[in-house]
Amino acid sequence: MTDGADTTALPPMARSALLLDMDGTLLDIASTPAAVVVPPQLLDSLRALTVRLDGALAVVSGRPVAQIDALLQAIPYAASGEHGGALRFGPDAALQRGALPEPPAHWLAAVSAWVGANPGTLLELKARGFVVHFRAVPVLDSTIRAMLEAMIAANDAFSLMPGRKAWEVRPAAVNKGTAVAALMARAPFAGRLPIFIGDDVTDEDGIAAAGAQGGAGLLVAPAFGDPQGVRDWLAASASAGEWAAIRA
Ligand SMILES: [Mg+2]
Repeated sequence: MTDGADTTALPPMARSALLLDMDGTLLDIASTPAAVVVPPQLLDSLRALTVRLDGALAVVSGRPVAQIDALLQAIPYAASGEHGGALRFGPDAALQRGALPEPPAHWLAAVSAWVGANPGTLLELKARGFVVHFRAVPVLDSTIRAMLEAMIAANDAFSLMPGRKAWEVRPAAVNKGTAVAALMARAPFAGRLPIFIGDDVTDEDGIAAAGAQGGAGLLVAPAFGDPQGVRDWLAASASAGEWAAIRA
């Protein structure tokens, strides 16, 4: 992985594929996931870059694909949601899901009861897992982690991931790295070199996968500062037709 000191480590735009995390990378983090704002300039940049890259632009997020498409008006050619659990390979392609396990019902019952007994915590159900949020009660961070670690310890089909003031139980077989590999195996991504940009721990698999394919992985903070820096870079690159300089 590179630290984004310059663009010499990036492949030329004509040989690149762009794989982008959404929250904290393209969009500023908001107080709740529903409160994010999508700047019109971002949509213009994504539209222009999708053309420049002959379609080789995808968003790889923890959110469901339907939310990615709604927020970004389905401009990215492809999308992966749920940390690699779901993939839409093209504009009109059907959503594909791997054969992933459902969390056992007794886990959901136990977590639901615990959240009900601990005001300020919140249970978010996902298609193949769940998230326990503790933004309002940060003191419960380690308690929740320990509870969920114990819960999944005997079941290696699931893993525990840190989120933003949250812990997420999700299928162990998929992650943003498996999503990058699946996308890069198909047109219009195949034959190009991936540039993956993300901002947090769940993006490390995507960054590693991009590096393994001879591409580059960039973390938002060191390479761009913040999502506005990413958006400015996308806009400059879209208008120049080559990757703009990245600050150290
Ligand atoms: Mg993110």
